Formats: sequence, structure tokens, C-alpha cells
Amino acid sequence: MKTILEAKRLNKAFGSNQTNQILKDVNVEIVEGEFVSVMGPSGSGKSTLLYNISGMDRMTSGSVILDEQEISSLSEKELARFRLHKMGFIFQQIHLLKNLSIFDNIILSAYMAKKNSRKEINNRAMKLMEKTGIAELADNDITQASGGQLQRVAICRALINNPDIIFGDEPTGALNSKSAVEIMELLAEINQTGTTILLVTHDVKVAAKTERVIYMLDGKIIGEQHLGKYKVKNNDFKEREEKLSKW
Ligand code: ADP
Ligand code: MG
Repeated sequence: MKTILEAKRLNKAFGSNQTNQILKDVNVEIVEGEFVSVMGPSGSGKSTLLYNISGMDRMTSGSVILDEQEISSLSEKELARFRLHKMGFIFQQIHLLKNLSIFDNIILSAYMAKKNSRKEINNRAMKLMEKTGIAELADNDITQASGGQLQRVAICRALINNPDIIFGDEPTGALNSKSAVEIMELLAEINQTGTTILLVTHDVKVAAKTERVIYMLDGKIIGEQHLGKYKVKNNDFKEREEKLSKW
């Protein structure tokens, strides 16, 4: 099994003298194909961890190796390119462009990455939209879409460049429980096709649908639980939630 991401002694501090230490010697290792969540209460540093692990923010000290590349040694420009090619992001504030159609929001980063022809990109976008159930909305304005639809758009956009790893920050946070379950099932399906997924959440119900749960408290990793792959058809999540609640 190949390690896709390894963070070692990752520290992050804010403030003028970096007095506000948020991440404290965090170690995380993720194997290719895993579906992992980091669970912890609000303010424990989950979003900060995600930003620093993905190079969206610069760590204060430590090492993050993603796809055999130490990300702290990349310039801003190299990092942006690396992110575009290797990573997909599903964040709570979805950052979709309001004056573009749903379809254009999905394909934009792929046109920028120029890995494939526009025809290939368009075909892939249509396939992803069919898979996520939003194909008929392609030409609609972003502003007409519901929360659940927007989250599907964000997932299509995260997948359009066929990333090696997807990062999600509370990816179901803005959704009602039915849509949240559907999105988690969709992510489980995507994971089963081989894409590695790391998401952070404060929600036991979300964490219970991932394969391995890492607990974070006050900027530190304090333990983890292996639940095994979540099977969409197999309705065992109550048991999984109970396992996590006992912690
Ligand atoms: P979580 O995602 O677990 O709710 P965050 O990572 O958002 O937690 O925040 C953890 C702590 O880091 C909070 O106390 C927050 O105020 C602080 N923090 C996060 N981002 C910044 C920033 N850019 N500047 C200063 N403090 C920050
Ligand atoms: Mg957060």
C-alpha cells in the first residue's frame, strides 16, 4: 500500500509573534484509496489542518509530503499548479462563480489545467453531472440551484481534473439530513473507484460513513478508529455511530 499523504510534526501558529499556536505537532498518514475523516469539536483546528495539509496556507513548521512532493518546498505558483492537477476541494463556502452557468463552473479549472482537450473535458463534465444527478441543470445559473444541488456542483468541480485526493471541509454542513446522506453515499462511491478522500467534520453521522476516523482536540490528534469501508447498501451506520460516540 502506497502512502499518498504524510504530514509530520505539522505546526501552525497565528498572530504577529505566532503566539497563537493552533496545530501542535500533528502527524497524519493516508494511504492511497483511503476514505478518512478528521472529527473534532468546533475550534479544534480541523479547517486549519486541511488548509495547511493542502498548501492553501503555509505551515509554521513541519513537513507535508503529498504524492512524493514536499509541498513546503514549492513556490506559490508551483503550489497552485500542483493543487490544480493533484487535488480536488469541496468546501462549505462553496466558492462557485455566480455569473457562470453550472456547467461552466464545473469545467473552468479543467480548462485552466489544460491536461485534456476541451471536448474530453466537456464529456467528463457531462458524465459527472449525470452521476451526481444534475445533468439537466447544466445551463442553469448557479443562483437558481438549491443547497444540495450546489454541493453536487462542487463535487463535480472537485472531480473534473481527476484528482489523486479530494479534501472536504464539512462537505455536507449546509445540507438537510437527506441530502447529506446522499452526498456521503456519492463520496463513498467515488472513493470506491479509487479516489482518496480526506474530510473534516464535527458531525458523528458524517464521520461514521468514512473508513477511518481521526480525532482532533485542541490542535492535537488524540486517537483514531478504523471502521472499515462504508457500504452504501448495507445499513450499518447506527452501529458505526455508536462506536464513535463511545469515544
Ligand atoms: P475548526 O475547523 O475545527 O472549527 P479552525 O481550524 O477553523 O477550527 O480554527 C481553530 C482555531 O484557529 C480557532 O481558535 C480560530 O480562531 C483560529 N484561527 C483559524 N484561522 C485563523 C486565522 N486565519 N487567524 C487567526 N486565527 C485563526
Ligand atoms: Mg472548520
